[in-house]
Amino acid sequence: MNDEFESSLYSRGQNPTLTILRKKLAALDGAEDALLFSSGISAISVPILSLLKSGDHIIAVDNLYSWTIKLFKDFLPKFGITTTFIDGTVFENFGQAATPQTRLIYLESPNTFCYELQDIRKVTDFAKSRGIITMIDNSYCSPLYQQPISMGVDLVAQSATKYIGGHSDVVAGVLTGSKAVLKKSLITSS
Ligand SMILES: *Cc1c(COP(=O)(O)O)cnc(C)c1O
Repeated sequence: MNDEFESSLYSRGQNPTLTILRKKLAALDGAEDALLFSSGISAISVPILSLLKSGDHIIAVDNLYSWTIKLFKDFLPKFGITTTFIDGTVFENFGQAATPQTRLIYLESPNTFCYELQDIRKVTDFAKSRGIITMIDNSYCSPLYQQPISMGVDLVAQSATKYIGGHSDVVAGVLTGSKAVLKKSLITSS
């Protein structure tokens, strides 16, 4: 990755301790790189705000983590970004909800409250055929039980407040993916 992520010029953004943590968390996910955030919901919100623009459309599965629902239902519409919620257990629903404006498919498998599953591989194949970015909240499984990168997901978010921290003493979020998609998720909106 280029300078913004690698130089330790200003320790608030990057420092040797963080570099090691990023490498270890990327390795756990089988990803090229990882970014750390001040909470799980930040690791979810920042890439979406950075990658999407007014007029874009999201397909998200039902019964997401509560603040992710709030982001999609209450905050993003104010910026002209709309979301269609679907029952993600039925693969055909993704195709039916897709429009030419669909820029992101957002998964949470298993999801927070009901543990519903999505066929991740099928969804990423479909998304790639349409040029749609895929993102998943992997907090529930953690990288120990599920590595969505290996199933073709572009961006994997997880709340490090949960299993990574493990002791109720840390609030943090992790975002993993390719170096290119992470760069776009934090810096540019192209
Ligand atoms: C807790 C949680 C989050 C948010 O994480 P915070 O670190 O509390 O911001 C996101 N997704 C899921 C599934 C969670 O359980």
